[in-house]
Amino acid sequence: MVKCPYCGYESNINDFKLLRNPWRYRFYEVRRLECPKCRKVFNYYYEVTSEGKEVKFMIRVKPRG
Ligand SMILES: [Zn+2]
Repeated sequence: MVKCPYCGYESNINDFKLLRNPWRYRFYEVRRLECPKCRKVFNYYYEVTSEGKEVKFMIRVKPRG
């Protein structure tokens, strides 16, 4: 489940629009997603640690211009 950091909309990751191909940042896989409800954009960081623990968080992306 992914939760929008702007409006709090929570849903399956497939409900969010993927704006570019996922990329790696350190141990994280990063996806740039657009919320289907408020249309705002954020980066979703996801990692599974060596102990098998899931770490995920969202960072807001400022719109350009
Ligand atoms: Zn939203």
